[in-house]
Amino acid sequence: MYVSRYNLLFDVRKDEKVIFNPLSGAMDIIYENEIKELEKIKTGKKVKKEVLEKFISRGYVFESKEDEDKELHRIYKKFEDAMKERGERFILIQTYDCNLRCTYCYQDESMRDPSIMNEKVLSKFFETVEDLKNKNTVPCISLFGGEPLMKRNEKAVKSAMNYCKQKDWEMLASTNGVELEYYSNILDSDVFKQIQVTVDGTKEYHDKRRVFPDGSGSFDKIVKGIDKTLEKIPVVLRVNVDKENIENLPKFADFIIEKGWEDKNFHAYISPVKSVFGMNYSFCLPDYKILENLFEYLDKYPQVEKVFSLEGWQGADSISRLLKKGELFPPQFKNCEANIDMLAFDLYGDVYTCLELVGRKEFSIGKFYPELNFNENLKKWRNRSIFTIPECRECNVNILCGGGCAALALEEKGSLYSNYCKPVKKALELSISHYFPKLKALGEKNEIS
Ligand code: SF4
Ligand code: SF4
Repeated sequence: MYVSRYNLLFDVRKDEKVIFNPLSGAMDIIYENEIKELEKIKTGKKVKKEVLEKFISRGYVFESKEDEDKELHRIYKKFEDAMKERGERFILIQTYDCNLRCTYCYQDESMRDPSIMNEKVLSKFFETVEDLKNKNTVPCISLFGGEPLMKRNEKAVKSAMNYCKQKDWEMLASTNGVELEYYSNILDSDVFKQIQVTVDGTKEYHDKRRVFPDGSGSFDKIVKGIDKTLEKIPVVLRVNVDKENIENLPKFADFIIEKGWEDKNFHAYISPVKSVFGMNYSFCLPDYKILENLFEYLDKYPQVEKVFSLEGWQGADSISRLLKKGELFPPQFKNCEANIDMLAFDLYGDVYTCLELVGRKEFSIGKFYPELNFNENLKKWRNRSIFTIPECRECNVNILCGGGCAALALEEKGSLYSNYCKPVKKALELSISHYFPKLKALGEKNEIS
């Protein structure tokens, strides 16, 4: 018999441990005597038939390593099939210019070209989407930048919107929100399904970070824009968090509740600021450190839990999904959409797959204007998975990690096919410990599977 390499043990309470296997998705409370039985199986000793059967049924034990590998590849195949079926998101970058100079922005001055995508390139973009999209799904065109919703981009945004309206395609926009009040009269709610706006805290905190070129703050303008937009289009609020502003989350949650935003079509989430490719931003915190702080706030300040979702936080996301929906996240064979199907098209006719690397031609994966032509980078990005990164193949948390961020791996080790380890076990440990009473109650109802 073979004890799964994916079994993870977490010390939760003095006398209680949790065993979690991300391949089978099973999670149970496990006691010392059962751990000893698992150890016996590992060393080839016999254990009671009913104990063995229980371990096998939960995916903690397989007949052989080959059986576990077969199961891994069966799930991977399912994942690949699901990816082929899903409706794609195509990122449209009509300008790299921006009206803010945020302290942690990944774009340097040389990238802030004031040019805007012309009609010829835009029309070729739509022709390309027609060619590439899944035939049975509705594509979603997502405006990105630079800042996509500046007043001077209005003509380009309207052109894209009219095209999508004719085709019945959906649109999203990720904006800094500075001109959102103006755009709320322009954006058609039949086309735009959601606007994502970034606000980094209350005025005092936000205005230190998300500033205009003259150093003044952008908070008041953005808040007015969100108020107006919420009258017709759902808003997703992203809060970029690091050492500088994390302590402000409880007060910011109070502000959001006072505004009444979360009673509307509104959703807020927290995202860690990352230092990618030469940003040298000194306030970054490791994800698990932010998570540690977040759990402290969730315990002390109920408004934080009410307002902010923990989606995207490895561990926390998975456990809260288990509590809400009774299912864990499926295994992660790849780190992010850049390794799956993400395509970003810019005003110069270049195509990219990683949103942090757009505008850096050396990382482009091809051209779509004047003609669609992918280069060898496309295959390299898409093939990056836990099976193609040598260090990741036998790692026992690979299906939780997916190999880590490719851009950071590239920066640190010079190769896409290198690992960028994430402290996924630490994040899960924090999450299981935080949610343990709820998990235990759920387990008692026999709903954990
Ligand atoms: S490769 Fe890294 S930086 Fe690029 S989109 Fe994926 S997670 Fe983000
Ligand atoms: S990047 Fe590190 S933690 Fe992630 S799968 Fe690879 S070896 Fe494991």
